[in-house]
Amino acid sequence: MATLYRKYRSRRFEDVIGQDPIVRTLENQIKLGRVGHAYLFTGSRGIGKTSCARIFARAVNCLHPVNGSPCGECEACKALSSPENVDIIELDAASNNGVDDARDIREKVKYMPVVGKYKVYIIDEAHMLTGGAFNALLKTLEEPPAHVIFILATTEPQKLPQTILSRCIRFDFKLVSVDELAKHVARVYDAEGIKYTPEAAREIARLGEGSVRDALSIADTIASAAELITPEVVLQLTGSGDADGISELFDCAATGDVAGALVAIDGFAKAGKSMFAVCRQVTDYSRNVLVLKSVGAQKSVEHGLINADKATLGRITASAGKADLDRISRILEHFGAAESGLKYSVNPRVFLETALVKLVCGVDEQDLAKRITALERKLANNPLPAGQKKNITTAVEPPAHTAVHAPQKAEKTVQNAPSASDAYEPEPPPPPDYMTESAPSAAKNPPKASQYAAAERQPPKSIVKAPDVKEFAESVKSADEGEFMHFSATKVSGMELIGAIAKFLRKKGTAGAARARELLSRGVAVKERDDYISFVVPDEIYLSVSDKPVIDELNAALDGIGIEKRAAVDKTAEDLLQDDIARARELFGRDGVTYARR
Ligand SMILES: [Zn+2]
Repeated sequence: MATLYRKYRSRRFEDVIGQDPIVRTLENQIKLGRVGHAYLFTGSRGIGKTSCARIFARAVNCLHPVNGSPCGECEACKALSSPENVDIIELDAASNNGVDDARDIREKVKYMPVVGKYKVYIIDEAHMLTGGAFNALLKTLEEPPAHVIFILATTEPQKLPQTILSRCIRFDFKLVSVDELAKHVARVYDAEGIKYTPEAAREIARLGEGSVRDALSIADTIASAAELITPEVVLQLTGSGDADGISELFDCAATGDVAGALVAIDGFAKAGKSMFAVCRQVTDYSRNVLVLKSVGAQKSVEHGLINADKATLGRITASAGKADLDRISRILEHFGAAESGLKYSVNPRVFLETALVKLVCGVDEQDLAKRITALERKLANNPLPAGQKKNITTAVEPPAHTAVHAPQKAEKTVQNAPSASDAYEPEPPPPPDYMTESAPSAAKNPPKASQYAAAERQPPKSIVKAPDVKEFAESVKSADEGEFMHFSATKVSGMELIGAIAKFLRKKGTAGAARARELLSRGVAVKERDDYISFVVPDEIYLSVSDKPVIDELNAALDGIGIEKRAAVDKTAEDLLQDDIARARELFGRDGVTYARR
């Protein structure tokens, strides 16, 4: 099946989902013939920025626009729908981000359009242009020829220089509501002749988190998984927890029910759910509870603060009644922090359990440190007799229940091992064949045993909210083997490599490839060196190295584009990461540990 997102990309403004005010404004500009010369389309990925830019580019040139959209029939429309046309120029700033590229634009804008009235430059990922490129572009934006329109699309407008921003007409694209996404998924499935239940479409919409591309990518991945797509199929294949289970886990955390919370996690683990996905869902859920509790149900919905359907809203309201704001924000904080740690945890389940117990039992390290400092200060000012000191030490020790947790850990670790075969569970997998071939040392140290041993020796101790590169590298030290695939390539640039792999995988179009592509489109850490580039694929929910078909696809992709050198798991993953995270931050503008996610 062709990729659903591409197949069902909107071709007229009326087909664009969830961006009504923007679409209306653009349509009116076409109808009135009042078109600007520079536009800025901002907003999350996969919500229609590029689609709108393309429609607009054709509409300004269309000879007989219909309601502001291109007619699709006229000479101009026909000529411009061909990828060979030279009037609509799409540039990916990720790969054409240099001064030379911008100068090239400056040179070429002089030439008149071939087909219609306007030459339209669509610059995707505009925030990735370099400073020099912006300067060169600015000169063009200052005095654009009458026949040229620029559309800059970006997820990170704050990275654009003020001088550029001030010259653009800005449109902020919104996340698409669950209802609209669900309808869209249903339409696409209907058109494809895929059988599904309405609840399944809704579940896919929820997991899409406001992004049309994400929702359709999920829809695509599971389309051929079953005769009838049900919510169970969706949850099973995406590794996500069911909505009831998530709200239950939240409620347990909110009411201090440790046993209940651990049982809930156990349930997810037994059902083969990804701890990362579960943690993320709880974070999102907590955020919704916090919002609802703060501003009330009615306002939350009215102002679009909560993107939820009626059933979910009911659950959120019930949960909001069970906890105070302080508690909810602590849950949000803990799960949010655990989310970043989980991706690189050797044993995600234990990691999540530890985070949960710390939260429920109120073992707050910072709070503890504060109390100790306060006591030390008191002691320094007011020394106590030797006998009393002992009592004070006891008073600041963590509550006894943390000790109860410790023996459980070893047992849980063992229980957890069989789920490593699950494709979506980011558990340490057995090394794939090519890894053992080129890295014999990895075969000598079966990662499973050594990693579990390491996990027991060093339980996940610090949950850092926003780890800096150094801290992050520290945290992966114990988990480098089997957690990352490291590829190196010569004679191609990082973005070329990613682009080539993505293209290759798109052609293959299998379910595994869809997930790999998903990861690639979300960004992987890239490092360009003098003579080669390397990139690190974190082994997390979207791409488990234990998932053989995905690995095969990736390897085939690398072969397909003539990669000269391929390294297996890298011994120096730690220092590579230092560089690569910095590069990933630069490229994707995100924290190194969250680059795989929005
Ligand atoms: Zn036309």
